Amino acid sequence: MSYVQRLEPHEFTLGGGKKLLLGQIDIELTERCNNNCVHCCINLPEHDPDALKREMSTDVVKKILTDAANLACMTVRFTGGEPLLRPDLAELYLFARRLGMMVVLFTNGRLITRELAELLAKYPPGRVVEISVYGMSAESYDRVAGHAGAFVEFRRGIELLLEYKIPFIVKAPKLQFLNDEHEQFEAWAATIPAMDNIPGYSINFDLRSRRDNLAKNTHIITLRATPEKTVALLSRNPGYLSDMGQFCAKFMRPAGDRLFSCGAGHGTCIDAYGQAQVCLPLRHKHYSVDLQEVSLKRTLEEMFPAMCEMKVTNPDYLRRCAVCFLHGLCEQCPAKSWAEYGTLDTPVEYLCEVAHAQARFLGLLNEHERAWEVGDAKERVAAFVAQHWPDGQTAEG
Ligand code: SF4
Ligand code: SF4
Repeated sequence: MSYVQRLEPHEFTLGGGKKLLLGQIDIELTERCNNNCVHCCINLPEHDPDALKREMSTDVVKKILTDAANLACMTVRFTGGEPLLRPDLAELYLFARRLGMMVVLFTNGRLITRELAELLAKYPPGRVVEISVYGMSAESYDRVAGHAGAFVEFRRGIELLLEYKIPFIVKAPKLQFLNDEHEQFEAWAATIPAMDNIPGYSINFDLRSRRDNLAKNTHIITLRATPEKTVALLSRNPGYLSDMGQFCAKFMRPAGDRLFSCGAGHGTCIDAYGQAQVCLPLRHKHYSVDLQEVSLKRTLEEMFPAMCEMKVTNPDYLRRCAVCFLHGLCEQCPAKSWAEYGTLDTPVEYLCEVAHAQARFLGLLNEHERAWEVGDAKERVAAFVAQHWPDGQTAEG
């Protein structure tokens, strides 16, 4: 018997059966960054004049925060680019905290000052700060970040967080040329008080989400791990098979012909220019709403549900992904298709290969099988779940 039921924010109801509209809101405060990481799918130069001109003002961000709080939003995630580039970051942070919202800060840590650390100590964010780490030495870090001196600033930021006992976790991109440093990174991460697990890695690097830099896309593709290496990395976690048993029981089923078969539209990410998007990486004008013209409430209650009803039209997707039982395991989604091909429903071949490699490793597929052609998928998944997550069958039942 399970005493705890895990619910997604949109499944949660307040007193009187009122639906919680918004559990968390992501606000991308800027696309600009003081780094220029080799794998980055979003960054613009720190002083990009066009971005500076178009970014949301302090008042606009405060209005969005207020509207979100009125929809019972409990957490705001400030992300970027590098959100600490905004001179009003401390003001926005305090504003969100006064509204009762917890704050998740995504940052590279280079701009953490003593004043900011003092602020975070005095008014704790309620959630851990998340720091992306790009290397364990000045040479490697600065090479990834594209800035001489970046490592020194990053270390100083980390020292300040430690000094003021601000809980933070670290994560990293899985770049092949940093392989020699990963053990060192994980040993260091284990010494950080709030780290209770091995650090998370980004592995399958996304292409530029605004489709704005062909040369960089070409380079990002060369940084991706092979499907086999991806599986090797994922599977080294000792709890991997039981985690996958649980995951498969809940999420492995064909997507059908709906374009969005994920959680898109149940929350929102606001881009740096005040556009509410159905999901963080999907920068498509048909799937975003200008909050200067439409309220956040109406966006969530009316606009997003209508957008997310869209059906797939691409015959290749209908033949493959719509009936493929690896959907869930596979990261194929409209945002990835958009970044890769400029369409919303083209199967992303790289992700397809990664999902197939993972399914072969798990014994769900044989060597030359294609997932969308498998006739006994349900039985295979059930057998896998029974073997690796036997408790779950009792709990679910
Ligand atoms: S620090 Fe983050 S946002 Fe900035 S360039 Fe690197 S990956 Fe991109
Ligand atoms: S594994 Fe391939 S066919 Fe299946 S959902 Fe992913 S991209 Fe589509």
